[in-house]
Amino acid sequence: MTTTDAAPTDTAAAATFDSLSPATGEVVGTHPIHDDAHVAQVVAVARKESERWRALSFDGRKKALVKWRKVIASRMEELADVMSKETGKPAGDALLEVALAVDHLAWAASHAEKVLKRRSVSPGLLMVNQAASVEYRPLGVVGVIGPWNYPVFTPMGSIAYALAAGNTVVFKPSEYTPGVGEWLANSFQEAVGRPVFQVVTGYGATGAALTAAGVDKVAFTGSTATGKKVMAACAETLTPVVIEAGGKDALLVADDADVAEAADAALWGACSNAGQTCAGVERVYVHERVYDEFLTELVAKAEQLKAEPGGQVGPITMPSQIDIIRRHVDDALARGGRALVGGPVPEGARFVQPTVLVDVPEDSAAVQEETFGPTVTVSKVRSMDEAIERANGTRYALGSTVFSKSQGMEIAERLRAGMTAINGVISFAGIPTLPFGGVGDSGFGRIHGPDGLREFTYPHAIARQRFKPAMALTTFRRTAKEEAQLTKVVRGLYGRGQK
Ligand code: NAD
Repeated sequence: MTTTDAAPTDTAAAATFDSLSPATGEVVGTHPIHDDAHVAQVVAVARKESERWRALSFDGRKKALVKWRKVIASRMEELADVMSKETGKPAGDALLEVALAVDHLAWAASHAEKVLKRRSVSPGLLMVNQAASVEYRPLGVVGVIGPWNYPVFTPMGSIAYALAAGNTVVFKPSEYTPGVGEWLANSFQEAVGRPVFQVVTGYGATGAALTAAGVDKVAFTGSTATGKKVMAACAETLTPVVIEAGGKDALLVADDADVAEAADAALWGACSNAGQTCAGVERVYVHERVYDEFLTELVAKAEQLKAEPGGQVGPITMPSQIDIIRRHVDDALARGGRALVGGPVPEGARFVQPTVLVDVPEDSAAVQEETFGPTVTVSKVRSMDEAIERANGTRYALGSTVFSKSQGMEIAERLRAGMTAINGVISFAGIPTLPFGGVGDSGFGRIHGPDGLREFTYPHAIARQRFKPAMALTTFRRTAKEEAQLTKVVRGLYGRGQK
């Protein structure tokens, strides 16, 4: 690597910020606040490197990504430890997250060629003299802006797929998890030795600088409110965006469900990662015939679960989120709801206890807005039609879950959501072939799977004439006779019949 190819180094005078342990408030690490000029420099390096990365071919990129995959896989515990310190999530959960991210990286690296390489398509009857083909080309430089809740798995859904598709990437991790972002970029540098994947750190302003730095696409994961700002900024330069935003996912329990399994899934979906999961379970709709049984199971399991240091439920990573969780619980209780487990969130708390709310009005914040804490509302429904209608009744539409022995597919197909897990929870996120993303306030665009690879490309279509057409249509030499022939052919083909 020549010096001009190298990633710019931070000046000694660069301002810094600390990442803190959410469990104790202790400083975990200190990182630079990258300004507009630095971000522009990093993007310029990425732009230069993108030509080389693109020219490497699928095979060359695959080899490089396999090297990176091996470095991450061999040092999983180290990455999980950085993540645990910065987010407070239990070590085992952090390890699971790294494992899933590595699986996605492996899939993206080994399937990019098959999904994106040039392939022939039918030219159709009217253009039968043409050979038609399409390939999916890299865009150039992709800016990835990430959240803190799954600081490895979530951005990797964009990073791995964008890289495998032939783009270079500049990643701005959340200000709560800069160490995780740096670890990923350093491990890439160690494995590949080129500035194909770089990181910039800082607050929202650094993310804003990335959206304005002339990248070819922005992949944003975070809140709906910030997603709107990112999209507005990108509109200035017609930069395309993927928005992976918040959710208010529902779990539906039919009367033929395995109720114990459904209760277990509801609790894990609601409380794992302290409820800070975009596709976590925030609402449950249960058929009246199994409502009491479900609630008894759920309450018994939830009472065993404690949010505490070293426990299965960690602290709330972002202190300001505690006020939102408190507001949702207080509002639910003030409007006639009851907390069967947990209750009002004490002032000054770093941990929120698992909370099961019932009798909460459907239009309250706890049912309509993203709570992002270890809380869940449970509502009784008379039929699965009612459950579907209520599940579909928020502005969000990210994931969803159905528990039923015989009606799983039927119910899933009627849910307004990007993904549905049947008789399991969040299972879709761990399947690399499935697209991940939402609609409505949950955003648009897809990561993961073939759709996730294509998201970071643009299609290039080629029509090659194989022989002269029977009717010369795209020339000023076209005759009235040929026009009459065309009319006859189109009527013959499309003017009759059912098909
Ligand atoms: P956030 O919106 O506060 O921040 C996300 C990122 O955007 C951070 O890196 C932040 O620094 C950056 N940012 C802030 N202002 C910016 C600006 N003006 N321009 C550019 N970047 C800016 O979100 P968060 O609190 O970090 O993450 C939690 C949210 O993310 C939740 O709503 C959750 O549901 C959502 N999420 C969604 C998915 C998904 O795949 N749909 C996955 C994980 C998290």
